[in-house]
Amino acid sequence: MRQDYDALVLGSGIAGLSFALAAARRGARVAIATKMAVPEGSSRYAQGGVASVWSQDDSFDFHAADTTSAGAGLCHGEVVDLVVREGPDRIRELIDLGARFTLRDDASDAYDVDLGLEGGHSHRRIIHAVDATGSEMMRTLLEAVAATPGITVFEDAFAIDLLQSAKFGLPGPDRCLGAYVLREGGVEVLAAPATLLATGGAGKVYVYTSNPDVATGDGIAMAYRAGARIGNMEFIQFHPTCLYHPLAKSFLITEALRGEGAVLRRPDGYRFMPDYDERAELAPRDIVARAIDREMKSHGLDHVELDVSAIDKAFLFERFPNIVARCRELGIDPVRTPIPVVPAAHYSCGGVVTDASGRSSLSGLYAAGETAMTGLHGANRLASNSLLEALVFGRRAGLAAVEKQQKVTDLLIPEWNSGPACSTEEEILIKHTWDEIRQVMWNYVGIVRSNDRLARARARIELAQEEIGRDYWNFLPTRDLGELRNIATVAGLIVEAAASRLESRGLHFTRDYPATETACQHDTILVRDPFTGRPRLET
Ligand SMILES: Cc1cc2nc3c(=O)[nH]c(=O)nc-3n(C[C@H](O)[C@H](O)[C@H](O)COP(=O)(O)OP(=O)(O)OC[C@H]3O[C@@H](n4cnc5c(N)ncnc54)[C@H](O)[C@@H]3O)c2cc1C
Repeated sequence: MRQDYDALVLGSGIAGLSFALAAARRGARVAIATKMAVPEGSSRYAQGGVASVWSQDDSFDFHAADTTSAGAGLCHGEVVDLVVREGPDRIRELIDLGARFTLRDDASDAYDVDLGLEGGHSHRRIIHAVDATGSEMMRTLLEAVAATPGITVFEDAFAIDLLQSAKFGLPGPDRCLGAYVLREGGVEVLAAPATLLATGGAGKVYVYTSNPDVATGDGIAMAYRAGARIGNMEFIQFHPTCLYHPLAKSFLITEALRGEGAVLRRPDGYRFMPDYDERAELAPRDIVARAIDREMKSHGLDHVELDVSAIDKAFLFERFPNIVARCRELGIDPVRTPIPVVPAAHYSCGGVVTDASGRSSLSGLYAAGETAMTGLHGANRLASNSLLEALVFGRRAGLAAVEKQQKVTDLLIPEWNSGPACSTEEEILIKHTWDEIRQVMWNYVGIVRSNDRLARARARIELAQEEIGRDYWNFLPTRDLGELRNIATVAGLIVEAAASRLESRGLHFTRDYPATETACQHDTILVRDPFTGRPRLET
């Protein structure tokens, strides 16, 4: 079955919804295909807030300088500038749409928002809705989408691959014509002259992640298979403390607890952070994550512990009610026992390379949000800049996508052909390979890397890719199989990008090249080699 639209959006997080609103308000007929229920994605779990210049004593130059300093020499100056300058307009728009951000005590209207301060920011500029900012932004955008004519939403719709004119032998330069989407047991053609990848991050490539289940890097993998440029995949941000418990897959334990006096210990009770940094538990996020990783690997531990006993009990309950409640649900009483924690993959700075309008290198294909590499974050993301980036680039891409369109309605697009494929009864093979990839990535391509670890990872990931490549077309498409194929692809891209960076910079740390080198101050751009089918560095 085929359906035609003016624009197709893959993903319903803040980036996808911002695109859909911008395009539909210009009169476009927009389809949103999203692989689970609409609100599911990282956006709804964002706690801290969204960064934007808002107070008189702050300035665009300050916000740009903080972003650039975090980015360790790889931020694109013009992109940083446009994002920080557009920030206040995007926030004002959200408030006008009805977003209820936390207000100052003396607020006279909805624009008098309370401004939080986060690590790396020189000024108060974190706009937040208590500690559930992402959820409030999603509520606001979803209500706006529901009230805007021309937007059709498909839930439980898993995009498998992009439609490409060259693959169908159509004349002219290659361009994206939409996507094959798995829905209600069949594969449909959703055709459009403009397609947005807004499929979020790729945290599920690692065993431990703060990301929800949907974060399997699908958009990055689809774009790579289609020949688009992929950038800076080595820069994965790890959060130091995620709850370690078999039933708590991705629950963050906020850094504010350490700010209030919680300390990190090995299970034998030894407090190790003072051995690593004079700021101990208050050292920056990457130093704490690296120290925990070192303790776990050198002592063969599967977690460390966060001891909150120094925090006043009443204050703990009042300030961190959600954390206390979640721990207690799982049988951990933080007042009596330390909280078991591990570092976790949190944010992918790399992705599909785009220009200032969200255009990828493949005509008709756009990317925004965590799927994209716009040049804003460089080698490390400044806290709360990702929601801002999703808002700014989602809208920019939505406006650009409907500007001038080449029709696709008259093009013959083949239906999905499964050939003699049968349904897979070997779910265990998918699960095993999935677990294997995530474990390899955690052990060898995590917080601390080395040539040897990367070589081992490459060998194992390539083997997994070969197996998946062999099996993929023998089975009817399922979401599990598609996600497995995608995490294997993204894992391979992270390994190649990390192996090609012969220095340590920002979020990429390797024992073999611990220094930052001026000669390496450039993005890592990978493309699919059409002859070998493997990633190669763009020269
Ligand atoms: C716990 C947590 C806390 C965070 N806190 C903050 C914060 O305070 N401030 C901040 O700036 N950032 C924060 N971040 C990061 C930020 O939330 C994300 O980077 C941002 O929300 C990404 O938005 P997005 O629209 O790109 O993707 P998402 O919101 O992740 O949405 C992705 C969408 O794509 C869909 N999808 C995926 N694959 C497919 C497919 N194959 N087919 C169809 N649909 C698909 C998903 O179902 C989902 O709808 C946090 C992240 C996490 C996980």
